[in-house]
Amino acid sequence: MTKTTLAAALAAALLFSLPASAPVEASDTAPAAADLQANPFLQAEWATPFGAVPFDRIRPEHFVPAFDAGMAAHLREIDAIAKNPAAPDFANTIVAMERAGRDLDRVGAVFFNMTSANSSDAIRAIQTQMAPRIAAHQNAILLNPALFARVEAVHANRANAGLDAEQIRLVERHHLQFQRAGAALTEAQRERVAAIGERMASLSSSFQQNLMKDTDEWALFLDEAQMAGVPAPLKAAAAAEAKMRGQEGKFAITLQRPSVEPFLTFAEDRALREQAWRAWTLRGDNNDGEDNKGLIAEIVALRAERAQIMGYDSHAEFTLDDTMAKTPEAALELMRRVWEPALARAKEERADMQALITREGGDYALQGWDWRYYAEQVRKERFDISQDEIRPYFQLEQFIAAQFYLAKRLFGLEFTERKDLPVYHPSVRVWEVKDAAGQHVGLFYGDYFARQGKSGGAWMSSYRAQEKFDGAVTPHIVNVMNIPAAPEGEIATISLDDAITLFHEMGHGLHGLMSDVNYPSLAGTAVSRDFVEFPAQILEHYVLTPHFLNKFATHKTTGASMPVELQQRLIASRQFNQGFATVEFLSSGFVDMDFHALTAEQAKGIDVAAFEAQALERIGAIPEIPMRHRSPHFAHIFAGGYSAGYYSYLWSEVLDSDGFDAFSETGDLFNPEVAARLKQYVFSAGNLRDPMAAYVAFRGREPVVEPLLRNRGFLADGDKRGTAAEGDNEG
Ligand SMILES: [Zn+2]
Repeated sequence: MTKTTLAAALAAALLFSLPASAPVEASDTAPAAADLQANPFLQAEWATPFGAVPFDRIRPEHFVPAFDAGMAAHLREIDAIAKNPAAPDFANTIVAMERAGRDLDRVGAVFFNMTSANSSDAIRAIQTQMAPRIAAHQNAILLNPALFARVEAVHANRANAGLDAEQIRLVERHHLQFQRAGAALTEAQRERVAAIGERMASLSSSFQQNLMKDTDEWALFLDEAQMAGVPAPLKAAAAAEAKMRGQEGKFAITLQRPSVEPFLTFAEDRALREQAWRAWTLRGDNNDGEDNKGLIAEIVALRAERAQIMGYDSHAEFTLDDTMAKTPEAALELMRRVWEPALARAKEERADMQALITREGGDYALQGWDWRYYAEQVRKERFDISQDEIRPYFQLEQFIAAQFYLAKRLFGLEFTERKDLPVYHPSVRVWEVKDAAGQHVGLFYGDYFARQGKSGGAWMSSYRAQEKFDGAVTPHIVNVMNIPAAPEGEIATISLDDAITLFHEMGHGLHGLMSDVNYPSLAGTAVSRDFVEFPAQILEHYVLTPHFLNKFATHKTTGASMPVELQQRLIASRQFNQGFATVEFLSSGFVDMDFHALTAEQAKGIDVAAFEAQALERIGAIPEIPMRHRSPHFAHIFAGGYSAGYYSYLWSEVLDSDGFDAFSETGDLFNPEVAARLKQYVFSAGNLRDPMAAYVAFRGREPVVEPLLRNRGFLADGDKRGTAAEGDNEG
């Protein structure tokens, strides 16, 4: 995952989200002189090494005055560009916009990193106060008619203005941003789009609230005997949950994934599994006050109408226009190519489990509530790997070293820890990054441990993006994770998933660090959603290679490398039950695309239940594997930002599997020629090119799905080249 800087985050969040308001007037009130001394954001330069953020001097009360001053300065700059009497050209319009808003970018980068990595009541209060103001600020710029007229003029003349490829790309990106924000609409259209946006915000929030109620209100209270088969740690969590719900002495199973999923995996009582499974798959779909189907019908219709106003046939066409896939058809085509082999494998998995049921004397056909339970039985029989067996081989420090080793082997980068730079929490570490020639590349912050005030998950972000059009600015990049801190005096170990995530985030980190473009809008990870995961996910493949396991998976007490036999079992186990995982994911992907491929006309008054059933019937889905997220609780697409985009997890995996094959095909995981192309067209190229063109330049051809099929174990040819590493890529 990446978290982008202010401008990009706002641009993404802004799509239609706000009414077209009058431009916000710049405030004339200057900050008092004393504040200027104390507030680091009101100083032009930071006197730290490399201009690193002076976290030791930043207080929560500095943010609001800094935002105020930054927005005011930005509006003055934008106003000057919009009112410039000179004819619009690249330098006085596009470059001037790249140069504008520096103070706002600086405070925004620090602030939005704090809201996710190191929040507090004070930060949250500022967030609530500033969010609408910053959104209005961005709107005032993107919906400024005089400014848009200039951008349009430069855009229209871009081929004849003596611009190079990067400059033309920059003009196009700016123009597109204005367009997608609705700058080209008539007043009436803009009002309708704003009204749709407001209605959608309220529908999404009702969807989310219904889902939360349906998830939270249901619980199964069980006694000791009914918990048979459930491992001790899960039982302890269920006991705590029951106590919290006023039923001390019982065990409570809830519809939160971390509770119900393990219950379905381990509970021996088949009738109880059925009860839990039915409640789980019917969230938002109980024809009661919390039913989401009516909301979905309205959301789908409004999205289609909005797309039509924007000049597109469907919401999917509008959304995908600015992605690597480009069209719904391309995304669907990819899903279809994976669907058939995945479904075939899922049916084999079903047969394996049915055989086990029969062998044990069961006289029933496997059902949805049996799948996880019997999959676990088969998994134990075939691989028998426990976390306790693996974890001592995954020391955090070793795998931090491993990710730096990978950066060196592929790209010649050298990481040296610096203890003299300010950090926002004592456990945050900083490294200076240099290239093979010893030149300073940037700073890399590592914030690895879970703590209060940090959001869940893992992500990369930046404090400063790379650019060089006005003199070189080097990037300051951060990786944030949530590894449980080791007890005092013990060596910190991580799970295999954490090790893979560490490499994943390093990939995003290198994408930011190695960026080598002129303009900050094009730098690093400022690329489309279905391309940005590629540089992260390609590095995941290295973790489960014998090279890295032998070198870095060393036992925390004996120091011995992981035994080869265990390595092999570990790698093979990653392919287990992939038919199920792929089918449940793709079912959701197809239904998402089908809802959003409707035209405004088609989307009127749909019957959501029938629509979902028909979509699943068309692909031949099997009832034992429901969608990973059935429509009435598919928050990714009805309450989040993934509408017509759920496919992108798979799209990225096609790229990383095929991309990693570029190395394994040569027999050298660090092949210098392949690495050089990967650097030139991907890691250092930011948004210089269309993502497909960038990929083709790296790979020599368009991506193919076979490596993904092989990694998931769907090809029968026994070709085990590469690894079965699979990432954190299934939302
Ligand atoms: Zn990612």
